[in-house]
Amino acid sequence: MKKLEVNNCIGCGMCIGTDPEHFEFDSDGLSTVKSEENLDSEALQSAIAGCPVNAISITDTEEN
Ligand code: SF4
Repeated sequence: MKKLEVNNCIGCGMCIGTDPEHFEFDSDGLSTVKSEENLDSEALQSAIAGCPVNAISITDTEEN
């Protein structure tokens, strides 16, 4: 199973604009994962590639 994570976000908002399906602002104004469906979407790939601090990652989890 794959897991979508945001770590060390600086709150630029790019990923939320690019891929609102997967990201939203939390109460601190930082990006948080909204959905882990459709992880192959082009918008998500664009958001991952465009994050200025490489805060977004998709990892494979051990358990299925
Ligand atoms: S693009 Fe990166 S730094 Fe900007 S809001 Fe998204 S996760 Fe945070």
